[in-house]
Amino acid sequence: MLKTDYIKDAKLKIGNEVEIAGWVHKFIDMGKLKFIFIRDRSGQIQVIAKKGVVSDGLMAKIIANKEYVVHIKGIVKENIKAPDGVELIPSHYEILNSVDEKLPVDPTDEVLSDLETRLEYRYLDLRRRKINTIFELKSIIINAYRRKLIEMGFVEIHPPVIIMAASEGGTDIFELKYFEHKAYLAQSPQLYKQIAVIGGLDKVFITMPIFRAEKHNTSTHLNEITMLDAEIGFANDHDAMDVLETVFIEMLRAVSSKPELLAVCGAEVKVPQKIKRITYTEIIDMLKKNGEQIEWGHDFSKEQEKKIFAFVGEEAFFIYEYPTSIRAFYSMPNKNNPTICNSFDLMYRGLEISSGAQRIHKIDVLEHALKSRNLNPQDFKFYTDAFRFGAPPHAGFGLGLERITMKICNLNNIREASLFPRDRTRLYP
Ligand code: ATP
Ligand code: MG
Repeated sequence: MLKTDYIKDAKLKIGNEVEIAGWVHKFIDMGKLKFIFIRDRSGQIQVIAKKGVVSDGLMAKIIANKEYVVHIKGIVKENIKAPDGVELIPSHYEILNSVDEKLPVDPTDEVLSDLETRLEYRYLDLRRRKINTIFELKSIIINAYRRKLIEMGFVEIHPPVIIMAASEGGTDIFELKYFEHKAYLAQSPQLYKQIAVIGGLDKVFITMPIFRAEKHNTSTHLNEITMLDAEIGFANDHDAMDVLETVFIEMLRAVSSKPELLAVCGAEVKVPQKIKRITYTEIIDMLKKNGEQIEWGHDFSKEQEKKIFAFVGEEAFFIYEYPTSIRAFYSMPNKNNPTICNSFDLMYRGLEISSGAQRIHKIDVLEHALKSRNLNPQDFKFYTDAFRFGAPPHAGFGLGLERITMKICNLNNIREASLFPRDRTRLYP
């Protein structure tokens, strides 16, 4: 390795020799004293541009071009005037790579670029502390999800991404050519995770990319996302909400244990003890009472989701028992009132981040549900057949990783939470 320490750790080693490697962040010329600031993923350090170590020729190059890639060996020294009270006195200085052109995006935050330009040059954008921190937090979020579910006895499974039938029905699905057949990119692993539970795996979870050919361009929708899914055998909607509540709280706990990372994003996270559950019908009454135009039976718009957040006054809550007609065909109608189904959404900071339900496990009810939505049971034969040979009651949910990352990191646009977002117009890079 070219370095012994990340800069953050090197700064703690006062009096010791360290080796760091990173980018030239900026240069300060104070006449006799000259400083170069070196940056890596963990932070920055002031390095004295010492005569004899850094030649005048080398110095001239660095002044002219930020983002040179350098390797420096030196002693860490206390200096109360330096940022964080430390600086590096170099004994060896090497340029690993140079920069030939003017940077199209400034990694030092001095000149801000628009999102389109930043995404075009994502590798430069990512050198910014806030931007790479978003992806560090995203990694913590997905790992907390995985860790907690494994601890609860779940098994991670890997369903196909290329499929023959649309999982949810509907039109928002990408078609592709699969040799002599027509195939689709999965819009959800729904049917496959249910089949895994019917197969006896009982408690399964999935983390995979899914694709939605939604044409609208919004700040909360992408065409490719990472879906965190789970399915539980011998469970109903409230059992699934219990699991989602536990795992969601664990995800919040994991990021809240990194306040220094959240602070970089200007974010703070409170970890709730419990998550309130409110019925769809109660929410409709609440909206109407507050003068909102909405009738029972309609889904909430994104604007209404924000209003509901303000009325409920909690960062996270469940809305449950949605009308059957606005949920996916496999949602279990309520025993006492089939116009509602055993379904739920998890709302966080004014946005839906997860949807779930108890699923229909009786073949006659399932075929009826398909037909009533003008879907042909024959198109779902691989799926419906599984219900003829002993399908246990089951329930589950799907949670969008980019949505939760966006909300945790306080981002206005979901594109910021995707390394290379795919949207209506962006397919490259
Ligand atoms: P919405 O109504 O908010 O568009 P949805 O109800 O169509 O979402 P679901 O099918 O319930 O989405 O998917 C489960 C979760 O996956 C959502 O709660 C959300 O977190 C995420 N998700 C779904 N579609 C998208 C998308 N196009 N972009 C980003 N995240 C999405
Ligand atoms: Mg939903």
